[in-house]
Amino acid sequence: MPPPAWKADIDVTTSDLDRVLTGCRTAAAHWGSLSFGERERQLRRWANELARSRADVIATVREETGKPQADAELELLVGLEHLTWSARHAGRTLRPRRVSPGILAAEHQARVERRPLGVVGVIGPWNYPVLTPLGVLAGALAAGNTVVFKPSEYTTETGRALVEAFDRANPESADVLRLLPGGAEAGEALCRAGVDKVAFTGSTRTGQAVMAACADTLTPVVLECGGNDALIVAEDADVRAAARAAAWGAFSNAGQTCAGVERIYVVQSVGEQFLAALTAELAPVRAGHHYGRLTTPQQEKVVRVHVEDAAANGGRFLVGGPESFRGPGLVDPVVLTDVPEDRPAVQEETFGPVVVVRLVRDLDEGIARANAVPQALGAAVFSRSADPSVARRLRAGMVSVNGILTFAGVPGLPFGGNGASGFGRVHGREGLMEFTSAQAVTARRLHLTGSGLTRLRSPWWKHRALRALIRLRHGRD
Ligand code: NAD
Repeated sequence: MPPPAWKADIDVTTSDLDRVLTGCRTAAAHWGSLSFGERERQLRRWANELARSRADVIATVREETGKPQADAELELLVGLEHLTWSARHAGRTLRPRRVSPGILAAEHQARVERRPLGVVGVIGPWNYPVLTPLGVLAGALAAGNTVVFKPSEYTTETGRALVEAFDRANPESADVLRLLPGGAEAGEALCRAGVDKVAFTGSTRTGQAVMAACADTLTPVVLECGGNDALIVAEDADVRAAARAAAWGAFSNAGQTCAGVERIYVVQSVGEQFLAALTAELAPVRAGHHYGRLTTPQQEKVVRVHVEDAAANGGRFLVGGPESFRGPGLVDPVVLTDVPEDRPAVQEETFGPVVVVRLVRDLDEGIARANAVPQALGAAVFSRSADPSVARRLRAGMVSVNGILTFAGVPGLPFGGNGASGFGRVHGREGLMEFTSAQAVTARRLHLTGSGLTRLRSPWWKHRALRALIRLRHGRD
């Protein structure tokens, strides 16, 4: 694993923003007028170029985030799957759709057209600096928008690698995807710059600031914010599979996964068995080997505060303890039990290699507790008998049954949450629609007498016809 390469918030000016935006605005007219097939070709060339230059991209990701090689490779693979899915499906998803004109406009043809918005501002996080932006950029670009992309200040070079690969693959499409390096200041400037939509991925607190900044210009936003996801283990679960999934969901990427497992509710009757299986699964796991470091110093502080607060308020260490904090960014797995439900480790996103486990009476109590936090991003249930309908009872934008984070790897599924986890969706059909506006179009195809219903100088029969229509279609006197 590379040594820590934490970066301070780089001090950038936003004087370049106007120039970048003007370029993207000009390019939007051309890019938006291309056929879906042509955009697909260019996005596929981009994917090919990223695959070809994967060694460099992965080395940059590892240097900036501290991820192990396999994690960075998996991230690139999933990102490319999303990119090519959006490229392939944009045409079918966004093509004009005929709708019935209804009785009042029977002589017209009616259709919905999905139009690109123009220029989209994409603000990214550092935890998945390839996958997260690619999933968003794929939808925005395939739908016909150009993009100003501001990566996290901690992963600027990874963001640059993505943009440069696009330019190398498609030299004819300069200004379709432009990089805006910088931190909070650059992000806020982008929100106020008059782009046609801002797609933000990051913490809930920053999401609120983004929405406030965008409100001034009525710029629409899609907010992909933090999660606090629960895994529920029912009494008929395959307990060993649940424990394996819990370990992956809570600790991969050092727990810095928006839809990672932060809380586990296990039905009492299998509690002991589950805790033993989870402990065994984690026994050999070490930071720096099985997963990387915490990427930013601030994040390590939050994790430490949550763990210390939980321990001071009755929480017990099942795995790890204060000794888990082994030096800059390296934190071995911590599993806490008996943490009161009102503590930050339960109510807030910890975003580190820490998980809290609570035994519950039954599946119903597990679901009620899972739903009792402000965030509503993802959730998971392990049960041999539960069918996918269990998802309806969970307040979450995404649910895996007998799996963990499975939804994130399915390019056709929308990704996003509700409540404090934000709103709007990326990925899949919904992620393409998110970056378009619906235009309603009618076109006359016949001239019938019914058109007299919408004439200022009414024909003699208008009132009689209207009364008859109301009675016939919506009830009798
Ligand atoms: P962050 O909120 O600190 O920063 C996110 C981005 O916003 C960065 O690019 C940052 O420079 C920018 N920014 C900061 N202040 C801004 C402002 N005032 N105006 C505009 N932009 C501003 O988040 P982070 O620490 O980079 O990422 C971790 C968070 O992201 C976690 O909460 C995680 O759950 C969340 N996340 C969510 C998803 C999702 O899809 N729901 C995916 C990945 C990460």
